[in-house]
Amino acid sequence: MKIIAVRTHLLEHRLAVPFESASARFDRRAHVLVEIECDDGTVGWGECLGPARPNAAVVAAYSPWLIGQDPRQTERLWAVLYNALRDQGQRGLAITALSGIDIALWDIKGKHYGASVSMLLGGRWRDSVRAYATGSFKRDGVDRVTDNALEMAERRAQGFHACKIKIGFGIDEDLRVIRAVREAIGDEMRLMIDANHGYTVTEAIRLGKAAADYDIDWFEEPVVPEQLSAYREVRAGQPIPVAGGETWHTRYGMWRAIESRAVDILQPDLCGCGGFSEIAKIASLATLHGVRIVPHVWGTGVHLAAALQFMAAMTPDPVRVNPVEPIMEFDRTENPFRQAVLKTPIEAVSGVVAIPDAPGLGIEINRGALAQFKMPEA
Ligand SMILES: [Mg+2]
Repeated sequence: MKIIAVRTHLLEHRLAVPFESASARFDRRAHVLVEIECDDGTVGWGECLGPARPNAAVVAAYSPWLIGQDPRQTERLWAVLYNALRDQGQRGLAITALSGIDIALWDIKGKHYGASVSMLLGGRWRDSVRAYATGSFKRDGVDRVTDNALEMAERRAQGFHACKIKIGFGIDEDLRVIRAVREAIGDEMRLMIDANHGYTVTEAIRLGKAAADYDIDWFEEPVVPEQLSAYREVRAGQPIPVAGGETWHTRYGMWRAIESRAVDILQPDLCGCGGFSEIAKIASLATLHGVRIVPHVWGTGVHLAAALQFMAAMTPDPVRVNPVEPIMEFDRTENPFRQAVLKTPIEAVSGVVAIPDAPGLGIEINRGALAQFKMPEA
């Protein structure tokens, strides 16, 4: 079995209403899928987190090391590709591109052996996960306080047990939003806040102390991801558990955060941290310090499917009668190709997502959607 082609599919949708996090403005959704084809006709799919065109360029740069190779040798190929760009690529695009390739290779491996990726990772602990709704970005032309409260009341009505809102736009306004959302969703629904590294240490501590009154499960990316000591200060200086990790890459990057006790909850992104081959190692490292893992998810149905396969195989820590179960990040912002790329959409039903058990990622790609949402040439 040999790899004969490595392709990327750039997808784009212009948003009807642009929105902002604390650190980025979105006027479109753009994502890149990786397709790897083998000489026996088997095709595997992956996805890269981050800017689509640069990711596609790095995937293309890796392809000479893939053509002619046996795709089932996932560990070996990961090491060869990592080494190929190692001196200038220990994190960032070199790893996000590698992630999409690795996911596609695992999809191929599963299809070849007739097993889901979760079975290849060691077996399934669960056939479904509860989803939490991510949304509440700052949208152009609307009042953020009422907009966020209305949106999250709707998520509650849809059956989500938890939701995450975007903050980092100023302490006083953020606190008004948090208060309004808590009132809108009631006392039972779980609530998380995500600053997208928009605060300084002192601001994050002030915000966290005040927001704790509203029963917050975690405070995500309070400060910029390079400053691990700042994460520790925020952890020590306010009562809400601190989460982060969507921009930390490989076992090396994650280990620095884990061993320095930067976060209570680690959020590796499968399409960014190095794919299945690497997230399995990261999960093992997290158990050394009792750090909880809640994967970051942001992209198309391919990303959703990959995250589900990993979550099916996540071993509870500790194993106990009623273990702490993983929860699935479910982006609810506008993205028509999120589900359109799949022949069978992956949706939350009453806040619960079923985990496919067909070979590989357990999905089939709708090539019509790849054509429909194809990014215009630069
Ligand atoms: Mg986040």
